Formats: sequence, structure tokens, C-alpha cells
Amino acid sequence: MVKVGINGYGTIGKRIADAVKLQDDMELIGATKTRPSYEARMAVEHGIPLYAAKDAEVFEAAGIKMEGTLDDLLAQVDIVVDCTPGGVGAQYRDVYKGAGVKAIFQGGEDHVTAGISFNAMANYRDAYGADLVRVVSCNTTGLIRTLYPLTQAFGVDNVFASLIRRSVDPPASKGSGVNFIEPSLKLPTHHGPDVKTVLSDISIQTMAVKVPTTLMHVHCINVKLSRPATKDEVLEVWSRTPRVRFVRGGDGVRSSAQIMDMARDLGTRRGDMMDIVVWEDGVSVIDRNLYYYQAIHQESDVVPEIVDCIRSMCKLQDGAASSMAKTNATLGLKG
Ligand code: NAD
Repeated sequence: MVKVGINGYGTIGKRIADAVKLQDDMELIGATKTRPSYEARMAVEHGIPLYAAKDAEVFEAAGIKMEGTLDDLLAQVDIVVDCTPGGVGAQYRDVYKGAGVKAIFQGGEDHVTAGISFNAMANYRDAYGADLVRVVSCNTTGLIRTLYPLTQAFGVDNVFASLIRRSVDPPASKGSGVNFIEPSLKLPTHHGPDVKTVLSDISIQTMAVKVPTTLMHVHCINVKLSRPATKDEVLEVWSRTPRVRFVRGGDGVRSSAQIMDMARDLGTRRGDMMDIVVWEDGVSVIDRNLYYYQAIHQESDVVPEIVDCIRSMCKLQDGAASSMAKTNATLGLKG
């Protein structure tokens, strides 16, 4: 059993905690909090041992039982999943190294923080036995999930993607205006180069616009395929791709709102949708140009990738297929 700790129990951290608890080859030792928030109280209610990332006294004053400090947590684990806010993780890099534990960073950190960026399907073996790995962001994970199988099946000459981004996550009560559409003016945006940290040979450019919604991101993607393919051939490839799921506008799935309603109907924890969702009746092929729309549940799509990353770094499964199958079965994802 690999012993896992989580530094930063927020949007991603709490989901990793739940996912790790479902794996029979991993043990969740605990998670850190910085403040005695409602999330800290919920963690205690769910039996997750809490450790203070900073000041332990504030928790005692609030009546929340802590098991120790971050150092105490690091002393017990084989691997720590850093889920602190973007840019903060890099500051802990030397702390993790000093404690002699392996560490996974999130997409909010730069590639250089770990030197290896990860997606289970595309480069599981690159992380095998590694000490430091970064799991790419929610948007990058979504792009790789649908693009990688296209590179294998047809070859890809070029990709252009427009990302319609949620402004903040659902729990945020500040930072989200109600009347704005905000383009990212630094072009191309960082998302394309980020895909290349995993798929180094792909040619990709991206633009992005932030909109006042919290539920999901939506990508509008144009892929120039290397060889001609029909729409049915493309759909057949994705139908065999784990963690890529079809929905149909014809079934009334017109927007991210219905997708998240579907996720609640599926009965997933927190109503999460960890699969990448492609509108089947929104796929079109003209000459060698493939066009499609996909939706990304930003709070959860990286969770199965992080579970697989733990397996690769700790050498629990030799290859992506067996690790992904295990993760998919435990989290209820499309295999
Ligand atoms: P979050 O703000 O929801 O959670 C961060 C947690 O870290 C909070 O509990 C916060 O209290 C804690 N924290 C803050 N400073 C800390 C410190 N110095 N030490 C320890 N803990 C500290 O953030 P999040 O959305 O979970 O994002 C975490 C990482 O995951 C970021 O790199 C982000 O870019 C990446 N990510 C986020 C999303 C998303 O959409 N939310 C998706 C994919 C990846």
C-alpha cells in the first residue's frame, strides 16, 4: 500500500482525497489545511486526518482536532499530492525533496517545477518511478484526451482550439462578475504550449475567452488530420477511448448545464463529470478538417490522471492500460 498525503485541501485536494480512499493499493494518511474553514470541518466529518499547513493553534481555537503539522504528515507518506494554489506548489518543491517524499504538482505550476508533465493515456511510462511529476491542467487534460487518439489513428498536422473558459469554480463568491466576456490578449494562449509538454510533436495554437459561468469549460476545436477520415471513423476512435464520453444535442444536451445535470443523475460524488464530453452530433469533417466541441469539468477531470500518476511514480502498475482500468472502475468513468 502506497501512503499518500495531500497538501492543500481545496477544490482538487478534496477530490483526490476521496479518490485515493477508493483505491485498494493506496492509503490516505491525511491532508493539510491552512485555516479552520467549513472544508476543514467537513474533512473531519468524513474521517480525513487533518494536518496544519501553517499555524496549528488557530485550529485548536476553533475546536478542530489536528493530527500534527505538514512536517508530521510528510514524515509518514511515500508521496504527496500538492494541491495548493497555482504558483504556491513550486515553493514546496524543496520541502518535499528534503523530506524524501515523491511529489505530484498541478497544472498551476510550470513544467520546469517537476520536469515531467503527465497524462495517463499519452505518457504513463514517462513518470514511472519518477520523484517529481506535474499533472497538466484541466484544459490541457481535456485537449490531450481527445487529440492523442487522433494522433495515433490518423496523424495530426495542426490543431487550432478556442477555449471558452469558466470564470471561477462554483464555490467562489468573489472574482466572478456577471456581465463580461474577457479575451486572453496574450496570444497564442499558454494552453497550446502546455499540450506540447506531453505531446511534444503536435502543432497547436489556442485562444481563450473567459465567460461568467462556473460549471464547465467548452472547447471549439479544428484539427487538420494527416490523412482523410470520415466522421464515423473519428467517432469510432473516440468511442474506444477511455474517459471520453459522447452526448447528443438531439437528446436535449444543449449546454454545459445539461451535462452537469447528467453527472448528478449518474450519481457521481459531488456530481462530478471526470470524462471529457464530446457532442456527437456536433462533430463534422470537411476535407481533412475535423471540427468538434467538447466540455471539460474543470474541478474533476484531472482526478483520475493524478491517481494514475501515483501508480506510475510508485511503480504500482507497469502500464497505462491496467492502471487506467483500475481507476476507471473505482471512480465510475468510461473505460
Ligand atoms: P483551491 O484554492 O480550491 O485550493 C487550494 C487549497 O490550498 C486551499 O485549501 C488553500 O487553503 C490551500 N493553501 C493555500 N495556500 C497554502 C499553503 N501555503 N500551504 C498549504 N495549503 C495552502 O485551488 P484548486 O482549484 O484546488 O487548485 C489547486 C491547483 O490545481 C492549482 O495549481 C490549480 O491551477 C490546479 N487546478 C485547478 C483546477 C480547477 O479548475 N479548480 C483544475 C485543474 C487544476
